[in-house]
Amino acid sequence: MKKNLLLVMLALVLVLASCAGDSGTDDTSDPGTGTETWLPDTAAPDTEDTSETHDTVETSGRIELEGISFTESEISLRAGQAFVPEIVFDPGDTPYRELVWTSSDENVARYSAREGIVAVGEGECDITAASVSREDITASVHVTVVRREENMVERISLDKYEVNLTVGLTDMPWVTMYPENASDKREIWVSDNTSVAAVNSYGLITGVSEGTCTVTVRSAGNESVYAEVTVNVSAPKVFTEVTYVDGILIANKTYGLPSDYNPGIDPDAQSALDSMISGAASEGISLWVVSGFRSYGTQQTLYNNYVARDGQGAADRYSARPGHSEHQTGLAFDLNSLEQYFGETAEGKWLAAHCWEYGFIIRYPQGKEGITGYMYEPWHVRYLGTEVAERVYNSGLTLEEYLGITSVY
Ligand SMILES: [Zn+2]
Repeated sequence: MKKNLLLVMLALVLVLASCAGDSGTDDTSDPGTGTETWLPDTAAPDTEDTSETHDTVETSGRIELEGISFTESEISLRAGQAFVPEIVFDPGDTPYRELVWTSSDENVARYSAREGIVAVGEGECDITAASVSREDITASVHVTVVRREENMVERISLDKYEVNLTVGLTDMPWVTMYPENASDKREIWVSDNTSVAAVNSYGLITGVSEGTCTVTVRSAGNESVYAEVTVNVSAPKVFTEVTYVDGILIANKTYGLPSDYNPGIDPDAQSALDSMISGAASEGISLWVVSGFRSYGTQQTLYNNYVARDGQGAADRYSARPGHSEHQTGLAFDLNSLEQYFGETAEGKWLAAHCWEYGFIIRYPQGKEGITGYMYEPWHVRYLGTEVAERVYNSGLTLEEYLGITSVY
């Protein structure tokens, strides 16, 4: 009788210990009966008997446990990491769910009711769960603990957490991983909806179809650290008509041209340009054309190349989306050099001072990016005819301000 009493007390201790252990695993271990916890009726008079006869089939109506298993037989952890294992009970609706946990080497890993399997130190061991009701039913998971990485990534910072794209275009958030001396800064990029936006291994996001999705970048060296980007993809605006404001043909970010608007260089603009080039030459200034008319298709190729190189946000500051380029009007020219220092050269200064005399304006002046939608382009001239060009020049305004129109996508 004294021995039996000891057995009952031992069983009670094990049950209490394992009930605490269940609290960390109930959510995942029991798809059949949810989080319901069955407490064995230890006070029942037949407890002593069943505790010693568990090899025989239970006849009290309860569903006898036949086996347990881990969903993963091997796991790898870094020292200090914890992992909540998932246990499958067979049959799924058995109420005999109490387990006792042991480790073959507590210096490598141990089981904690609160945290699950906790990696302690480098090495390998087995963590075993045994059924309280039938101690011959056990399952083990082999645990490999690797040394803690000293310089693990702890935080990921992005230059943008929201990206707005039109279908077919791309953008790439800039990633910074901290601490800066982290040893493994590899990135893992995933889109949660690749039918809306795709992302490659470098973080280049491409708009696929209209909608919103989330792109996540994760540290390959420490997968618990990640950052998310909301990606909004819109369909491109389609223009079917050209827009004139006060008789002036407009192509900017607000007003686009139809894809089949393909006039070539305007003859008046060409002859005015020829006059300007000879006028400049007579004053010892050499001007030449770098770029004139560009078709919708040419602009599309150009813009997509810039976007692929610099991302859409950066490209939109200096290159027009297809349909929005002033070069498609046949009234614009880029001269000499596509570098901003051109504005400081003798040629650039001459152009800024005299182009109005030939019917041109410097279309994207310095400090007006917020109005024209483009960075300073001292090389880009737009033909307006001498009358209008003189008025715009004398006003000191951009064409947008002069006409009272916007230039935004
Ligand atoms: Zn240009």
